[in-house]
Amino acid sequence: MMKPLFYNGKEKCLTFSYDDGVTQDRRLVELFNKYGIRGTFNLDSGCFGKLAKANGNFIKETTHNKIEESEVAQLYKGHEVAVHTISHPNLVYLNKDAIRYEVMEDRKNLERLVGYPVTGMAYPFGTYDDTVISVLKECGIHYSRTTVATKTLGVPRDFMAWHPSCHFGDDTMEMLITRFLKDKTEQSHYNYQKLLYIWGHSYELDGHETWELMEETLQRLSGQPDVWYATNIEIFFYEQALQNLEYSADRTMIKNPSAMPVWLLVDGKTVEIKPGETYIAG
Ligand SMILES: [Zn+2]
Repeated sequence: MMKPLFYNGKEKCLTFSYDDGVTQDRRLVELFNKYGIRGTFNLDSGCFGKLAKANGNFIKETTHNKIEESEVAQLYKGHEVAVHTISHPNLVYLNKDAIRYEVMEDRKNLERLVGYPVTGMAYPFGTYDDTVISVLKECGIHYSRTTVATKTLGVPRDFMAWHPSCHFGDDTMEMLITRFLKDKTEQSHYNYQKLLYIWGHSYELDGHETWELMEETLQRLSGQPDVWYATNIEIFFYEQALQNLEYSADRTMIKNPSAMPVWLLVDGKTVEIKPGETYIAG
């Protein structure tokens, strides 16, 4: 039996994705860092420093103020910064040229700030269609997150419509976390990789007064020896490397042509296949 594993031979992977670059991200990143949790922050570079009130069904009034451009690099260090467009439009109502502008200009602005290629994205309002996806691909975007909860722990097949497991605080979250944290023996019958992907907006933690729930959740999920704590783009590149593996017709030889090591569980044994190497079973 052969089963793909995550980076460093981990059975599971955890990632978070937070949108809009609001000032509450400062407190959230601090918590992520405290517990060694990692995530992706989707930013609208045309909105830095703007002040607004948050809309939503909140028990407490809260702000939707944006962080300053000058703090982006330092604040999100160790996490991933990704595209959320320049002005947060509904992309399905824009023509191709406008979509291209919203994505490429955001990429340029963010890349100038963080100093690495920014090729991940989350859809503003979660909306997309085939035209949007085709333009995104032309713009060099590798994956884009939707707002559709899968309520599962699966790895996406289509990264251009990457559906998260759940929104933070959803009524399915507890069930998913429990399943995710189950020990190795209990889950050994799964032949797929377990990915828990939680998304949200940090101002919701103010509005719903759920900061405590967030800290509790991070604490429970932290320090697990069988979990890879990753950003979205790291998961994308690792899954690409798994997809790129070449198997011999009888499945006894596996070549890794990528520039990144991959890990598999082969007959109950964890196997690392280094870049360019061929693993021979038996
Ligand atoms: Zn948004």
